[in-house]
Amino acid sequence: MNCPSFENLISYVDGEMAAAASQALATHLASGCATCASSRAWYESVKAIAASDDTKDAPRWVLHRALKLFETQPLRGSAVERFGHLIASLVFDSLRRPALAGARALAAADRQLLYRADNYSIDLQLAAGKERGAELTGQILREGEFQFESVSGLELKLVCEGRKILSTKTNKFGEFSLATLECGEYDLQIETDEISITVVGVPVA
Ligand SMILES: [Zn+2]
Repeated sequence: MNCPSFENLISYVDGEMAAAASQALATHLASGCATCASSRAWYESVKAIAASDDTKDAPRWVLHRALKLFETQPLRGSAVERFGHLIASLVFDSLRRPALAGARALAAADRQLLYRADNYSIDLQLAAGKERGAELTGQILREGEFQFESVSGLELKLVCEGRKILSTKTNKFGEFSLATLECGEYDLQIETDEISITVVGVPVA
């Protein structure tokens, strides 16, 4: 069998699939398909997060900084004007839930943060750099989409105190990597085809 659709994988994980189809999917997973294994792990971790999500509203300083972003940065491009600009909200921080972070089996990451904005999730991993500073890697995913078409080749900008520090693009899986950051707080700006998303105050320690 070929890889199942993401929807089918989800109904399998949720135990809502008919027995025969479920058997075929189990056989496919048992065959060691890495793509499906990682999609399944991602969905299970998001489910776990959603089930235990006790995230409070953003603290006031985050809102203040978000408002300042709107004041100081005119929206660019027609897509942004049509669909707007969102501030991503933090739904998971491994420093706050060490047990769950362990369960996610991302041992190389020193700190993991998951943000959400509209249909997008932004998964960030911060690790100590090889010589100094920190490395930020991440993946952007769009809910219900398995082929990554709306998260590949997105423009990313890392901004510190209103100054652009680094820019990059996501690869075909929506992944990206930004190396050697000084300690501090950064805003990550993501331009999708639909919206512009800002992750405010990524804590690089
Ligand atoms: Zn597969």
